[in-house]
Amino acid sequence: GLALSLAACGQSANGVGDGASSGSGGGAKGGLVGIAMPTKSSERWINDGSNMVKQFQAKGYKTDLQYGDNVVENQVSQIENMITKGAKLLVVAAIDGSSLTDVLQKAADAHIPVISYDRLIRGTKNVDYYATFDNYKVGVLQGTYIADKLGLKDGKGPFNVELFAGSPDDNNAQFFFNGAMSVLKPYLDSKKLVVQSGQTDFNQVATLRWDGGLAQSRMDNLLSKSYTSAGVDAVLSPYDGISIGILSSLKGVGYGGAGKAMPVVTGQDGELASVKSIIAGEQTQTVYKDTRELAKVAVQMGDAVLTGGKPEVNDEKQYDNGVKVVPAYLLQPVSVDKDNYRQVLVDGGQYTADQLK
Ligand code: BGC
Repeated sequence: GLALSLAACGQSANGVGDGASSGSGGGAKGGLVGIAMPTKSSERWINDGSNMVKQFQAKGYKTDLQYGDNVVENQVSQIENMITKGAKLLVVAAIDGSSLTDVLQKAADAHIPVISYDRLIRGTKNVDYYATFDNYKVGVLQGTYIADKLGLKDGKGPFNVELFAGSPDDNNAQFFFNGAMSVLKPYLDSKKLVVQSGQTDFNQVATLRWDGGLAQSRMDNLLSKSYTSAGVDAVLSPYDGISIGILSSLKGVGYGGAGKAMPVVTGQDGELASVKSIIAGEQTQTVYKDTRELAKVAVQMGDAVLTGGKPEVNDEKQYDNGVKVVPAYLLQPVSVDKDNYRQVLVDGGQYTADQLK
């Protein structure tokens, strides 16, 4: 079964702890792994979940994959069930990073290690490792894209920009925003970039649960209040689903039509609809994060923890969850636009050329 499923998923599984189990946790090898993901409303999480299932199963584990439908209580009870079913390991991408303290205490009482997946679990000591991308860098890539595309580095401007951030209960959202602002702030200070709405604080621009519909109504408001005469030249968007909302709002008032160029609109995840939108000349950029690689990191971490090994980490200072600094492994995000999508996404095996037609 092992060789077969390895071949079927086309991934190498050269992780720590392959083969005979060793160390104190050896008895957990082959046990049940509980995988709690936030929502199926975004492709990326569907891929994260199925990639982990494949990879854990290829290492001989059983899996219980659950999606919380963006409802915190669902996720809490799903994790409780995993504990009851005797899970040996939990891998969790939190809906609300600060709402898992009680349930993770139950996990700790049952000696179940916890890996925080993509999003940092906050406010508890009961999180062992963190597998994610360089989240600050994601924001830097979005901010840099806007600066480059507008020619700010060549002294061009002033331009009008509006800012969007992700969900305030997701630790990543702040990292993305701070990364982007590290690039954009100097231009805001020198007035080469102007936010006509005046909304520049994280709390003013955040989008609860990354909801594209909510972003669309906020963009509608911004356009009708602050852009009746001025035009908007760029929109910082942290996530493809939010970008789609922003773009519908822009199209609704004629952007992308005759004489009214679409502003630069960023994004994140390289989701299929957004890559197609980039190819069609609507969304401008996305930040791609290869979830196959993230799954691999989480599976290797989990397997190492369960077999008495030591997971590989490359960051032990950035991710303080309020109670402890969680040792992390950060992968590198990649900026994608219409010039490099083929190379990154098609040659890289994320999509076939046919899917993008
Ligand atoms: C993830 C992003 C994703 C966002 C919305 C964040 O925690 O890191 O990749 O775009 O959630 O799902």
